[in-house]
Amino acid sequence: MKVFKFGGASVRDASAFKNVLRILLKHSAEPTVVVLSAMGKTTNALERLVSALFEKPQDCPNIIQEIKKNHVEVVDQLFADSTEIKVTIDKIMHYLNERTQSGADASYAQAYDQIASVGELLSTKILSAYIAENGLKNEWLDARKLVLTNKDFTEAKVDWKASEKAILKQFEQIGIDKLWITQGFIGGTEDKYITTLGREGSDYTAAIFANILDAEEVVIWKDVPGVLNADPKHFENTEKLSNISYKEAIELTYYGASVIHPKTLKPLQNKSIPLTVRSFDQLDESGSLINDNGDKDNLLPSYIFKDQQLLLSISTKDYSFVVEEHMSDIFKLFAKAKVKMNIMQNSALTFSVSVDNQKEKVGALLKSLQEEFRVKYNDDVSLLTIRHFNEETVRELIKGKEVLLEQRTRETVRFLLKEL
Ligand code: ASP
Ligand code: MG
Repeated sequence: MKVFKFGGASVRDASAFKNVLRILLKHSAEPTVVVLSAMGKTTNALERLVSALFEKPQDCPNIIQEIKKNHVEVVDQLFADSTEIKVTIDKIMHYLNERTQSGADASYAQAYDQIASVGELLSTKILSAYIAENGLKNEWLDARKLVLTNKDFTEAKVDWKASEKAILKQFEQIGIDKLWITQGFIGGTEDKYITTLGREGSDYTAAIFANILDAEEVVIWKDVPGVLNADPKHFENTEKLSNISYKEAIELTYYGASVIHPKTLKPLQNKSIPLTVRSFDQLDESGSLINDNGDKDNLLPSYIFKDQQLLLSISTKDYSFVVEEHMSDIFKLFAKAKVKMNIMQNSALTFSVSVDNQKEKVGALLKSLQEEFRVKYNDDVSLLTIRHFNEETVRELIKGKEVLLEQRTRETVRFLLKEL
């Protein structure tokens, strides 16, 4: 069996849905689990709905209306008779209305999961009905009952044992030789709370199903030809990495390559399940293969750019050395605030670290750090990582910028840069 993951761009409008149907028809001989994201920018709209619920509840009805309109527009183009699917959409809209009318009665994170999870429910209901109408019999699966997690709302941790039990039971009941449509990104707890796995988490969902079902392969269908050696938004002349190892791919996602969700690779590596990232537009292109083979890992340099970094310089208040005990306190505070360290370095008096500049989380972190330490910060910094670098391109890329911090290993060079 295979697992196919389609992201938001692959169902952003009616013609995109038609393209997904075309791909599924082409592969209809093979049993497949399809993991789907929310349509286009729906999750962003739902995020706006959650903030409105907490900050400006009078805006909620308009945001719900806008989400409804986007979905209705698509089904009107896809279905000859859209009455039935519109009933489903209406039910989900009714849920959103009720949920937002009852006010901010849960924690932000819990409300976020109750609301943001709706995007994938909508898109999968539409896809399932649409392909069924076009001759592809399929089963719609509720990931909230299959991907079981703890209650860390917005970043829930998967309970692998419980998920394995639930998924295998489901597949035993209806047979494994079919086409399944399920939601990426969302999950649930055993006591029926809705959870989500973190933004862009649908790739991870695909890996969870693949691992548990011992899939033969996972394909992530994207609007890019594969894993590129740089993000085309930041770099010209990008090249495709035709084959890289799990290890190389994990390193790239760790440094910030956003083409695959960072948690996706481990469950696949653990069972040697190959992952292909390929274009849903150019169906003749082979894409990028990620597997055990590392022969080609260092053929091309890869460039990863993370902007909007905040560089924190943390020192003791009394000029004593920053030693292991301090480090341990600092790490604990970061873990508690759930702020990820993107690059770190230390000297006798200062521990320097860059983080994504997410206002709320970082604000809380700064407050707790300042109780024990002196903290200086520098914002609008960017982090450049080059794997398999050569000196010439390094010089070119840092030209005209101030280097605030530099780190080198044999394979990787990293810079924190500030525009001059
Ligand atoms: N729809 C979710 C998001 O946009 C999950 C995903 O696309 O992977 O973050
Ligand atoms: Mg997405």
